[in-house]
Amino acid sequence: MFADLILPLAVPGLFTYALPADLQSVAPGMRVAVPFGRGRKLYSGLVRRVHNDHPGYRTVRSVLSVLDTAPVVTAEQLDLWEHMAEHYLCSLGEVMIAALPAQLSLSSETRLVAAPQAAQEASIKGRGELLLQALLAREVMTLAEAGELLGLKDPMPAIKKLMDQGALQLEEELRSTWKPRMVTYVALRPEALDEEVLHTWFDKLEKAPKQQHLLMRYVELSRCMSDAPREVERSKLVHLSGTTNAMVATLVEKGLFLLYEREAGLPPEGALNKPPPALSQAQSKALGEVRRAFDTKEVVLLRGVTSSGKTEVYSALIDEQLEAGRQVLYLLPEIALTTQIISRLRARFGDRIAVSHSRMPQHERTALWLRCVQGEHPPPIIVGARSALFLPFQNLGLVVVDEEHDPSYKQHDPAPRYNARDMSILLAAPFKAKVLLGSATPSMESQHNARSGKFGRVDLSVRFGDVAMPNILRVDLRDSAKRKLMRGNFTSTLIETIEGALKRKEQAIIFQNRRGYVPVWQCETCSWVPECDHCDVSLTYHKLDHRLRCHYCGRNYPPPTSCGHCGSPRLRMLGFGTEKVEEELGELFPEARIARMDQDTTRGRQALDRILTSFGEGAVDILVGTQMVTKGLDFERVSVVGILNADRLLKFPDFRAHERAFQLMAQVAGRSGRRDTPGTVIIQAQDIHNPVLDLVVNNDVDGMYTREAEHRQAHGYPPYTRLVELTLKHRYEDRVTSTASALALALREGLGERVLGPEIPIVARIRDRHLRKLLVKIRRTAHASEKAFVRDTIDRVFSDKQHAAVQLVTDVDPQ
Ligand code: ADP
Ligand code: ZN
Ligand code: ZN
Repeated sequence: MFADLILPLAVPGLFTYALPADLQSVAPGMRVAVPFGRGRKLYSGLVRRVHNDHPGYRTVRSVLSVLDTAPVVTAEQLDLWEHMAEHYLCSLGEVMIAALPAQLSLSSETRLVAAPQAAQEASIKGRGELLLQALLAREVMTLAEAGELLGLKDPMPAIKKLMDQGALQLEEELRSTWKPRMVTYVALRPEALDEEVLHTWFDKLEKAPKQQHLLMRYVELSRCMSDAPREVERSKLVHLSGTTNAMVATLVEKGLFLLYEREAGLPPEGALNKPPPALSQAQSKALGEVRRAFDTKEVVLLRGVTSSGKTEVYSALIDEQLEAGRQVLYLLPEIALTTQIISRLRARFGDRIAVSHSRMPQHERTALWLRCVQGEHPPPIIVGARSALFLPFQNLGLVVVDEEHDPSYKQHDPAPRYNARDMSILLAAPFKAKVLLGSATPSMESQHNARSGKFGRVDLSVRFGDVAMPNILRVDLRDSAKRKLMRGNFTSTLIETIEGALKRKEQAIIFQNRRGYVPVWQCETCSWVPECDHCDVSLTYHKLDHRLRCHYCGRNYPPPTSCGHCGSPRLRMLGFGTEKVEEELGELFPEARIARMDQDTTRGRQALDRILTSFGEGAVDILVGTQMVTKGLDFERVSVVGILNADRLLKFPDFRAHERAFQLMAQVAGRSGRRDTPGTVIIQAQDIHNPVLDLVVNNDVDGMYTREAEHRQAHGYPPYTRLVELTLKHRYEDRVTSTASALALALREGLGERVLGPEIPIVARIRDRHLRKLLVKIRRTAHASEKAFVRDTIDRVFSDKQHAAVQLVTDVDPQ
């Protein structure tokens, strides 16, 4: 017998191996250990098919061992992977690498570390013990080295067993920065929750006025909480009462307080499984319409304005699925920014929710995976970022894609460069599950599909509580500069609006889609600009560490004191990033508390949580940030949003620039005035008559669609065509140029003018490699055959030795 395997490699196709007599009980979806290539490299391959057809070549290698006793991948997943490989023009192996938790995908190269504590608990003996001891001495070992040490030709089964026992981990686990922030809470012991008992405590503490004061502050702070345990964060309590952790500890000892830790953002136990809130009339109507639309459509687009309460509509639908005993996948664009939504869902659905994202520790990912595929009680609800799509579902009933327009649903690197929104429709199909796409600013693609009748469509066009949509004003930057009404990058209108909000103790969000301090230094004499030595791109100055940084390769350089070309000491700074905005805000509003949210301030999850928590608690007045601040934040005291430089968004050289600019501005505007405080949005721009700004001011999603659709149709862009972007890279420019021309020529033979390029991209060199781009427009009506042609042509051109060394990145449906 033979088995066709998927190997975790970027090589196309399946690989056939012979199954020795004692291993023939293996089934599709199980892993086996096999040798591959020259040398003694081992891989864990996944069985796709077991059969009797000899592959026809002389030496068929044999499977060495079977690693699983039950499938770890389902038939539906294998089908989905095949669809993805075909759609995104990549190999099945690449899809598998993206899909499987790293612990389930082993090779000789896998780097192992010991997890001694778990090892002790599992009391590992014999060979395993030997290996663990060696690992404790050497820290890291590859799977191949471990095999040598153990004297095993095929160490995979032994390694897998140790991993199952928790004694071994992958090295990458050690580097994970994505640890949750733990918060310590103070609450009264249950017996002290009584008015009278509390009075006796006050009396008892008469002689310790500081402790009495601490108790007083606790009572004040927790009074507004109706649910037990009426907890207060310890740091907050200590800060506001001017006491110390030690004093809190004293009251714990005396038997008054309880102290415990919990992951930030998780609701207290007492608040779990809260009864659902009553839906507003508009929400109920939308819910009914979604249900009805699902009678005839697999996919429904819910277009709900910002703060319309889409989450509650999703939750009602989730309830129905749970009652029917089916699973729900709730996709969010970026798990980092969604603590708020997760804690809302947790409060309602409790431990029926499992959270999944690619930055969680590998052993947790693996455990969740195995629970989904083999467990008796797979989690009913999975909330996750795009990679959650790959989990093995058993009985999927509904996929919710929240903020479906968000570009983060697209994976850029490595392959498969998939869009989780699009793939969720393929995921749902074999289960006959429904897909709900939600957004206030839906993508052109989804709107197009809703208009053509492929998707159902439901509108929710009022904010929850009938709160008014924000009032959006435009301010002319040129005119303000002429009339000397600018202070730094702020117009007097925006300054006054922020001032007003601060006086009323309201909050503001300032959006500038560029990080760092200034993006460009330029010589006043000869226009020289400092660039990265390894990329053709100007360097961004970061003031905090006084360095110039390349945002493409991450290298940094000391700032120049004079022009690198003519030697002139006169350099001027062009443009501005969030770091500069933060500094200017500090000068304009010296009393205000300001925080910055961008890639530089949120490297770990804790930092991000801290910023959002302090903003939520009102410990920050003004939040400045990049596109991160446009996403999903729901804070009730935000009354002002400022967009500092709309032109930069609008002038971006990409066919999606206007769509994106509209989405970003409408979304960030939607952060304001979400409760009682009416919202004001100030858009600063040079070109205030840009028609896209009119559409933003009127929140005119349909108008935006019509305008864009005309343009896209005329020029043959999505949603009217499908794009395949081909990026070629090589150290030598002439090599990349000649391969790009050869590829373009070959593609034109079948697709003619629908092949654009080769073009030199704006950033023409990254990490010492020269780039060329080709863009292929595929007709929707013939996309299978045309894509097959693209794939074959690529294979043909790159089989030529002269081109083989040029690297190719294939991106289908680029964002
Ligand atoms: P969206 O996702 O559409 O922007 P949200 O779901 O975040 O809106 O809802 C906006 C706010 O209104 C949230 O703070 C939410 O708690 C509140 N809200 C929405 N629906 C209800 C409801 N039926 N009852 C009580 N509060 C609601
Ligand atoms: Zn110069
Ligand atoms: Zn660089």
